Amino acid sequence: MTMHAQASNSVLGTSPVLTIDNLSIEFPAYKSTVKALNGVSLHVNPGEIVGVIGESGSGKSVTAMLSLRLLPERAYQVKSGSLSILGRDMLSAREKDLLKVRGRDAAMIFQEPMTALNPTRRIGRQMLDVIIHHQQLSKTDARAKAVALLRDMHIADPEQVMNSYPFELSGGMRQRVMIALAFSCDPQLLIADEPTTALDVTVQRQVLLLLREKARERGTAILLITHDMALVSQFCDRVYVMYTGAVVEQGVTSQVMADPRHPYTRGLLSGLPEQVEPGQDLMTIPGQVPNLSALPEGCTFRDRCAYAMPKCLQRPPMQVIDAVADRKSACWLSEPSHFSAQEMPS
Ligand code: SF4
Repeated sequence: MTMHAQASNSVLGTSPVLTIDNLSIEFPAYKSTVKALNGVSLHVNPGEIVGVIGESGSGKSVTAMLSLRLLPERAYQVKSGSLSILGRDMLSAREKDLLKVRGRDAAMIFQEPMTALNPTRRIGRQMLDVIIHHQQLSKTDARAKAVALLRDMHIADPEQVMNSYPFELSGGMRQRVMIALAFSCDPQLLIADEPTTALDVTVQRQVLLLLREKARERGTAILLITHDMALVSQFCDRVYVMYTGAVVEQGVTSQVMADPRHPYTRGLLSGLPEQVEPGQDLMTIPGQVPNLSALPEGCTFRDRCAYAMPKCLQRPPMQVIDAVADRKSACWLSEPSHFSAQEMPS
């Protein structure tokens, strides 16, 4: 399947595994309200790898956590919108239904496996618990499945890993165990929140290649949360760019990389090493993400945007650039004539 065809799945009638529509949530805080998500819409089709990219405070991790209802229930309020996995409304689902979805239909891979693995229990014990809980296998069959899963993750000595405690393994090996655990119940969706940020660059690439290889083999969709545009360009079929709790640009990765239409996306891209001449410093986007408790009117990127104009005091709607490829941008200057391929904001 081509990337363009994958982007068109929803148009052709294939139901997405994850659908988020106009989702807004707030975190009530002392004397203020943090507007964490402000009308987020995105979807992930079966088998695709979709990136969500943005700086800290963009809402990408909140989106990931909320997708599996992993945020503390009393900490937030849903102000609008919907979120469903395989057609199941996740926002109203009861806890016992959520337990069935988590692991079986959709699983999560976290940045630091030590937070997800129990440090006091051997890896094998933890894997058996998950497999037996979701698949009702005998202990013998579950153990055989766990060994096979670890071997499938290119772990040379699965028995040794099964007998290890998490702290006895390297960071890369722990993340392979987490990926094995995530795939153990053959979920249709994996949500990976900065899964390799804690790893060095070489191991990071190995782990992501493994994740993609196994997802492609099984037809599993991945929602990859990252702040790293280079990872998006290498691993994602489509990408959503988030800023201040909203999607500001989306599309097939190759199109967004080659022809970004939102100045924020252009800023993220200008920080890539391949965009920089030898001897030049990497560019960063000037300014800071606005306070989510006091978002400015209009375009929230205005104070950092080299192209800001009076019209930007009004919030720009998502403008459709290519309906078939689901390519959109929320900028008054989304038309191609406004940006040349070389021009970058200073
Ligand atoms: Fe910049 Fe205006 Fe576009 Fe916002 S709408 S990104 S301020 S040009």
